[in-house]
Amino acid sequence: MYLHEEMETLTRTEIEALQFERLLRTLRRCMKSPFYQKRFAEHHLSPSDIHSLDDLRKIPFTTKQDLRDNYPFGLAAVPMGEVVRLHSSSGTTGTPTVILHTQKDLDEWANAVARCLYMVGLRRGDVFQNSSGYGMFTGGLGFQYGAERLGMLTVPAAAGNTKRQIKFITDFGTTALHAIPSYASRLHEVMEEMGIDPMRDTKLRTLIIGAEPHSEEQRRKIEKMLGVKAYNSFGMSEMCGPGVAFECQEQNGMHIWEDYYIVEIVDPVTLAPVPEGEVGELVLTTINREAMPLLRYRTRDLTRILPGDCPCGRHHKRLDRMKGRSDDMMILKGVNIFPIQIETVLMQFEELGTEYLITLTNEEANDLMTVEVELKDFSDDYPRLQALTREITRQLKDEILLTPMVKLLPKGTLPKQEGKAVRVRDLRKTLI
Ligand code: ADP
Ligand code: ZN
Repeated sequence: MYLHEEMETLTRTEIEALQFERLLRTLRRCMKSPFYQKRFAEHHLSPSDIHSLDDLRKIPFTTKQDLRDNYPFGLAAVPMGEVVRLHSSSGTTGTPTVILHTQKDLDEWANAVARCLYMVGLRRGDVFQNSSGYGMFTGGLGFQYGAERLGMLTVPAAAGNTKRQIKFITDFGTTALHAIPSYASRLHEVMEEMGIDPMRDTKLRTLIIGAEPHSEEQRRKIEKMLGVKAYNSFGMSEMCGPGVAFECQEQNGMHIWEDYYIVEIVDPVTLAPVPEGEVGELVLTTINREAMPLLRYRTRDLTRILPGDCPCGRHHKRLDRMKGRSDDMMILKGVNIFPIQIETVLMQFEELGTEYLITLTNEEANDLMTVEVELKDFSDDYPRLQALTREITRQLKDEILLTPMVKLLPKGTLPKQEGKAVRVRDLRKTLI
């Protein structure tokens, strides 16, 4: 019996009853936050207007801009003396935001991460290595405390120094690793350079990948390269960090812990709920947090809820792989394109590696897209490369309805990136 079994096996009715109870408690807490007091007063709302989970829709959304406008402590719902930690988002898209935690918040966060790790089969006795940056980035401490809570031997290797990272994996018998997908590919590249065969020379069997969008095809490539099972992990600083939603061993959608969050999927333009199973913006309400609860937080992440039950037996809803953020969408000649669509096509080619870069330029009124992608192995068989380029171009055109310029590059030529991968460079000039 594991400490979360009771929560993981709740029926839908039980989940919803618990959610409603926790929502009411959260709303009462919010009335101690200067930000929500004002928000509720402006909308002539009071917690007593909420009579069911559906009534959540009466409450206005909270946005990243609200967090910025009330930086740093305007959303605190407890006296600052009770706050024991703050995290600040890495700020990929603008000024940073701050999230506050009480000791209980940190405990519950560790429980959520431990639950995720247990779900993919990790146990006491496993050696868990974390290649996330520690510090403000929540992937560091978030996984650290979760893995310790589960009772594994933890290796807080942190980011960078890939050779040392690999030495730790071999010397300490690391069985499970947390890495962002782009870094997992990099690790494999360096292992090859060092003459290390991950299957023969390491005990690595489980990989946790997340923090950035990646396709199913990218996952399969990484699994094959490293000889592991790779599980998708979703989180964000505003929701604590990792541990929000995680794949189970079915590897088909990420269970979102509904005893921590209420999930909504809305149309990013009209903000109305989308029909069940359709893609929209993920909106989350925290119902298990003290220091800084967030109501109907617009994550900007686009996904959908997978219909049907998961064969694993958990009833917590499953989120589909993230399609990207609403701000990742590229508009070319009026066509909406997500980088992940391009990745999905590229990763189907055996000959290609996992690294690619999309560059957008314009000439007069014409938008152009160049897709540079690394080959898995060097080849100077030009007729074959030409044929491959033509086939990739054709398949991309079928997917995005535009013809990009495709360039195949030898492995290791694209610039190496620290942290989350940047897949798109937009060099288009504004036309007057
Ligand atoms: P920042 O917003 O500064 O990048 P975070 O570290 O909080 O800081 O990043 C959270 C974001 O990372 C999410 O909102 C989402 O866009 C992305 N993300 C996290 N996990 C995944 C995942 N498994 N798949 C796709 N995107 C993810
Ligand atoms: Zn499942």
